[in-house]
Amino acid sequence: MFVYADHAATTKISPCALEAYNQTAWAFYGNPSSLHTEGQHAKEVLEKSRETIATILNATPREIYFTSGGSEADNQAILSAAYAGAKKGKKKIVSTAIEHHAVLHTLEKLKKEGFEIVLLPVGQEGIVKAEDVANCIGEDTALVSVMLANNEIGTLQPVEEIGKICREKGVLFHTDAVQAVGHIPVDVAEIGCDYLALSAHKFGGPKGVGVLFAKRGAPLTPLIEGGAQESGKRAGTEDLPAIAAMAAALKASVADMGATNALLKKLQTKLIEGLSRIPHSALNGDRERRLAGNVSFCFEGCEGEALLLYLDDEGICASSGSACTSGSLDPSHVLLAIGRVHDVAHGSLRLTLGPENTEADVDYLLEKIPEVVEKVRSFSPVWRDLKEGKRQFIL
Ligand SMILES: *Cc1c(COP(=O)(O)O)cnc(C)c1O
Repeated sequence: MFVYADHAATTKISPCALEAYNQTAWAFYGNPSSLHTEGQHAKEVLEKSRETIATILNATPREIYFTSGGSEADNQAILSAAYAGAKKGKKKIVSTAIEHHAVLHTLEKLKKEGFEIVLLPVGQEGIVKAEDVANCIGEDTALVSVMLANNEIGTLQPVEEIGKICREKGVLFHTDAVQAVGHIPVDVAEIGCDYLALSAHKFGGPKGVGVLFAKRGAPLTPLIEGGAQESGKRAGTEDLPAIAAMAAALKASVADMGATNALLKKLQTKLIEGLSRIPHSALNGDRERRLAGNVSFCFEGCEGEALLLYLDDEGICASSGSACTSGSLDPSHVLLAIGRVHDVAHGSLRLTLGPENTEADVDYLLEKIPEVVEKVRSFSPVWRDLKEGKRQFIL
């Protein structure tokens, strides 16, 4: 059996997106900036895609900027707001300890440039308190950046409350909505954000394409200089097939959202109940306020990377917060932020389900994961110490 349970890392392109990609690549090959007929036909597809996405987000088409993905959108929003703030002497940025690296590493860069960066705690449940955000904002605050849904533990942040606070205090607000768009309703007016980032490959679109929503009047400076594409805010000939495919994927996932979430909720409940029966295990993040497809666990005395490799042998694609792509053995900053100690954080497993997963998939996961956890524990020195009472169990 094969089970893909890593939808937070990326999704398979949906059939309608692939079809839109192929059709656009073939039939609309013109450059949208060209004045001739082929160019103008391509331009129509570009603007139609922009309109589709704007309507879904409750934005206007002029507020939609196509980017190379979520990372670029996060970078551009944060840097634009930071540098605009610095011009007015505002050099403080408020964010959280559980943001994606696209946000955290941008903030680190700004810190080196003299900005004051405050990363708010999120408690055991993995949710920042809007009140903490309010208390942290001062006269010198240029930007608040809080993600909508966390990519590791799926927890939903109180972005509407935070948006309201930012509006009252006159501070710019950016939200990384990469894990949310296409999965739960996202309305930029309801959130009250100035910037929002999304990425196509997290909801059945192609990789390497995304959107930065920037509210009318919000500061926006280009990261890439060149031609006048995207109202002069993002140079480079648009990846039209990818953009058309992104719009098609978003439309389809929003249309199926209710049914998909009903299915995912059912699978999530079964998976959480089943995995909770593994001794010395714990769910990461709030049980209720999380994405329906996310199940993140820690298993004490069980190395996360070994777990992933044995699961892969059983045809299961999952992910762990314990190892990062840089090959470092630092445990996930998200798991540390919710209070998991290093050893426990190392034994993490993230399963993220999507619309094509079935109850049979969950049954298979519940058959294999307990076996594999037991196997990995059987050769773990940490587990042996725990069993022999040389160490205290935490979970
Ligand atoms: C995947 C992801 C990103 C990065 O998006 P890319 O399109 O892969 O650059 C940013 N933020 C979150 C929360 C993500 O899950």
